[in-house]
Amino acid sequence: MKSFDVVIIGAGLAGLQCARLLSREKIRILLVDRKKDLTKGIHTTGIFVRKTFEDFEFPPKTLGKAISNVTLYSPKLKTLKLNSENDEFRVGNMGLLYESYLAECIENGVEFLNEARYVTSTAASNISTASGSDRAGERDPEPGNSYQNPAASRTDRWSVIDLEKQGETIRVKTKVLIGADGARSRVAKDLELDENTEWIIGYEEVYQGVPLEGEPQLHCFLDAKLSPGYLAWISNDGEETHIGVGGYPSGFDPRKAYKVFKSSVAANFVNIENAEMKETRGGRIPVGGVLKNIANERGLLIGDAAGAVSPLTAGGLDPCMRLSKFAAEVVCERLRSDEAAVLNRYSGEMFRAKFTTRLLMRRILKTFTYQSLLEMGFRFLRGEFGKKIAEKIFFRRASFPDIETDKTTRRLSAGHILSR
Ligand SMILES: Cc1cc2nc3c(=O)[nH]c(=O)nc-3n(C[C@H](O)[C@H](O)[C@H](O)COP(=O)(O)OP(=O)(O)OC[C@H]3O[C@@H](n4cnc5c(N)ncnc54)[C@H](O)[C@@H]3O)c2cc1C
Repeated sequence: MKSFDVVIIGAGLAGLQCARLLSREKIRILLVDRKKDLTKGIHTTGIFVRKTFEDFEFPPKTLGKAISNVTLYSPKLKTLKLNSENDEFRVGNMGLLYESYLAECIENGVEFLNEARYVTSTAASNISTASGSDRAGERDPEPGNSYQNPAASRTDRWSVIDLEKQGETIRVKTKVLIGADGARSRVAKDLELDENTEWIIGYEEVYQGVPLEGEPQLHCFLDAKLSPGYLAWISNDGEETHIGVGGYPSGFDPRKAYKVFKSSVAANFVNIENAEMKETRGGRIPVGGVLKNIANERGLLIGDAAGAVSPLTAGGLDPCMRLSKFAAEVVCERLRSDEAAVLNRYSGEMFRAKFTTRLLMRRILKTFTYQSLLEMGFRFLRGEFGKKIAEKIFFRRASFPDIETDKTTRRLSAGHILSR
């Protein structure tokens, strides 16, 4: 059985970001994804907010043109135009981004197992000695090449993980198991951590060759039927055009709603007649806020698996970048100190309080189930005060909390400068 310091299940943005940061620290990492090709079956529009592309470096050509103009529409297509003097959004070329991050991981020694499904994991403790006597079949790490401390006998906690690749079972063991396996995380279940219970469903088509007149645009449509509790959207930055709908699952068929939206609304805003439909994307977006119990001594959760999505905007990409960075720091500390309990510092409690207002606003949005009520709410948004709120939601330089500066973790973070 091969052993690793860290096994990460899921090579979406959260898993890749965590793997690449850890890979810079000479940690033995296995990254696993059930997909054969990470550029296929993407389930995000890929809109990054200003805070993310200002705070993190992105590989060349992975971000589209800046979008500074947003138009909101009521069910009766009344408009509210929001213009910012900043570059507020950029749509990521997600396939290229995933590939670039994966290449960095592999270059730094991460083992990547594609087309491999996480099946289950169990806790195991064993005595590991200076001679490594219990590590049958396992290659001893190069001196100084791992966080294993060979100095003393001790009891280690391991997770034994079963993966399935092309009908074969692969069993590995790890000190830290990271669940980056999306909104319905199997890892969360097996680690007996919290699981997402509230989500919206999104569905979109991506087009190439849609003419862009004027500046790149993001159009957001409030509609209780076509996007109950959320939005329908069109983003066009002149490179790719995304047309999609999202809403609470009960009584909402995303594909049907999309069809209606595309023909009766979107057709008036973008001309897709001569455009090429490249792909469809879709999936669940957890909107119940960061889960409380997202770590124990065996491992932790990141990205959608941790519920790390803004409950109001349903933006999960910034949290992927930030929470994964924090997770990598905690995991480094856990491996360096060789104390499994260090992982308990990675708690969802730290973040939940910061989402109270956004959770409240989500509750309010959820109640707007009638077009007439939405129309009334929209009238308020078009007023002076309402517009300020809308601008704050769309343009505030904020997203997921900046964890490094948090009081409770400052000491922990100060020791590590995991670069961007
Ligand atoms: C339609 C849609 C549009 C969105 N648009 C935006 C947006 O524009 N901006 C924004 O900020 N947020 C957006 N979001 C939310 C955002 O995309 C997600 O929060 C983010 O992508 C989550 O990344 P992740 O790495 O946690 O999960 P994922 O991207 O879901 O990655 C999970 C990975 O785990 C793998 N996996 C799952 N189970 C297993 C298993 N058992 N074994 C092995 N591998 C497994 C999957 O193959 C996948 O590669 C959108 C979401 C949706 C659904």
